[in-house]
Amino acid sequence: MLIFCRQDLTENERGAILDAARAAGFEPLELGSTRIALHGEGERAGLEALPGVLRIGALPDTPVLVNEPDRRVVRVGPVEIGTGFIVAAGPCAVEDRQRLLDLAHAAKAAGCDILRGGAYKPRTSPYSFRGLGDKGLEYLKAAGEATGLPVVTEVLDPRDVAVAAEHADMLQIGTRNMMNYSLLVEVGRADRPVLLKRGMAATLAEFVFAAEYILLEGAPGVVLCERGIRSPEPSMRNTLDLAAVPALRHQTNLSVIVDPSHATGRRELVPPMTRAAAAAGADGVMIEIHDAPDQALCDGKQAVHPDRLAALVENLRKIAALAAEAEESQ
Ligand code: PEP
Ligand code: MN
Repeated sequence: MLIFCRQDLTENERGAILDAARAAGFEPLELGSTRIALHGEGERAGLEALPGVLRIGALPDTPVLVNEPDRRVVRVGPVEIGTGFIVAAGPCAVEDRQRLLDLAHAAKAAGCDILRGGAYKPRTSPYSFRGLGDKGLEYLKAAGEATGLPVVTEVLDPRDVAVAAEHADMLQIGTRNMMNYSLLVEVGRADRPVLLKRGMAATLAEFVFAAEYILLEGAPGVVLCERGIRSPEPSMRNTLDLAAVPALRHQTNLSVIVDPSHATGRRELVPPMTRAAAAAGADGVMIEIHDAPDQALCDGKQAVHPDRLAALVENLRKIAALAAEAEESQ
């Protein structure tokens, strides 16, 4: 069973409900701030009348919050995701202050909406560059302020969530952590919208439940990001599952963006797959850029040169507008 509590539940009321649930024979589990799951065999009579309780219902077996009517539009600083096609661009990793600033200005000049950049980098080899950490967050914040672009950055560790939320407008959960449920809970509490990337071997159902975890904690929005899944094909880093875009938009009310950089791992495949994403009805794309990809400390092979951005962004907006028109007429 599931207890739905008032939005403004006090700590005393919460404590009393939990005590009463235990006394009634249940194992209560707090789900975010307004729901308490009741597991075990207990006696529900009496719980409904407790102060702060709105009602008691069945535990859902499918995600619920991802389908609420107002979930599509997510505000990231001054930008809205879900009302038009957005482009997030930036380096894989923040490397130094000036380079980030130059890339941010290039992204802004090309018409991009959001600056991306990793301060904490999840790397396969522990000997690879693992990011500048807190310094990287400072550089991101400065670049965001200098350009007016809101910033999205990945967090790997629950202990870094608070500092990342102080410096960034949106927190990213990477593919490796899509099922790190304690991290999902922590970002869900940070009062920042979350960009949730699909686990590299996750089903759509698992992906959507991960979004539900974050929303339960009160996050002001979750945007899903398809970034490719593992397949037998070795010539690309992953396989971009484009059908996930309309499928996720059908089975949730969340916005969905596409990251063709990590999906393909090859810069020459990025522009065409951004165009395909726009045609498939995505709410935007996120791409990695670098002015000297061969010297990049991370993921240079998939970085697009900023010189190519302006034409790309212009084309994407045209394709997205056509796709939206086509969808409406069908
Ligand atoms: C990233 O976007 O920086 C990243 C590491 O992507 P993913 O988690 O999709 O591999
Ligand atoms: Mn990368």
